[in-house]
Amino acid sequence: MNADQPTPARPILVFATHNPHKVRELQEMLGDQYQIQSLTDIGCQEEIVEDAPTLEGNARIKAHHVVKHYGLDCFADDTGLEVDALDGAPGVLSARYAGTHGDAEGNMTKLLFELERVGASTKEARTAKFRTVICLIQQGKEHVIAGQCKGFIEPAKCGAEGFGYDPIFKPEDHNCTFAEMAPEDKNAISHRGRAVRAMIDYLTS
Ligand code: IMP
Repeated sequence: MNADQPTPARPILVFATHNPHKVRELQEMLGDQYQIQSLTDIGCQEEIVEDAPTLEGNARIKAHHVVKHYGLDCFADDTGLEVDALDGAPGVLSARYAGTHGDAEGNMTKLLFELERVGASTKEARTAKFRTVICLIQQGKEHVIAGQCKGFIEPAKCGAEGFGYDPIFKPEDHNCTFAEMAPEDKNAISHRGRAVRAMIDYLTS
């Protein structure tokens, strides 16, 4: 490129989150092809009510809100833990399974109680998966991408890394819970890591 020519502006892509760590991590993974901005960066302070009955529905609500009110390309994610013996619960309610949003201890205690209540005591009876759904809207075109990680719910908490249900989720083919794994090892196999990498492949292909 001619040195006198201005560098073309990178297209803005909003990540529908207020979490600066999530934004930084994604920007690092994506490289400099896009400029990732958070909801805070674009001045979106209003609450976006996530009241859809599915992960996909909630991701779509968030992404469409940004496109409609801010006119910017955007993607949004939503994640849930789906336990087979509980017919997919907590699923879309994962963040507030015990009643209060983000009460990880309460959520895990309730999940272990519910599994005991339905008599799911063997490893085979305690299968589960984390699922992340991303809704990306670029130039008015919607694209839905999912990533999942299968595993088992442990009978007791183990490990101190991570967040949410990590201390009781043991991924398939592993001998430790997510909370016992280094963040990069979790990221390599996690639902969110897989969904994000699939979106990045799509954006950069
Ligand atoms: P979010 O859609 O990423 O906010 O996730 C919703 C909820 O699912 C969180 O509040 C956590 O309870 C749970 N969750 C999501 N991702 C993970 C994870 O990687 N490990 C453990 N729990 C998770």
